[in-house]
Amino acid sequence: MVDEFLLSVLRCPMNPGGPALVKEGNELICGCGVRFAIVDDIPNMLIEEAKLPEGCGSINELPCQAGASASKSRSDQAP
Ligand SMILES: [Zn+2]
Repeated sequence: MVDEFLLSVLRCPMNPGGPALVKEGNELICGCGVRFAIVDDIPNMLIEEAKLPEGCGSINELPCQAGASASKSRSDQAP
């Protein structure tokens, strides 16, 4: 089991001020749709190794990043 206290304090590295992550099976899911794998009861919080939501090609396209980086990352948006 993943430690309950750990679960309560863990936050998505892309949205540290956001809500707590939700545990679902062997994954922790952020409100922005990113899924962090839990390996040997230890959540892997590396955003580089997390699964992005469907249709999201890069971490810059995450909903929690859209507001923060919309003005400076227009160049990498899909046509
Ligand atoms: Zn997030």
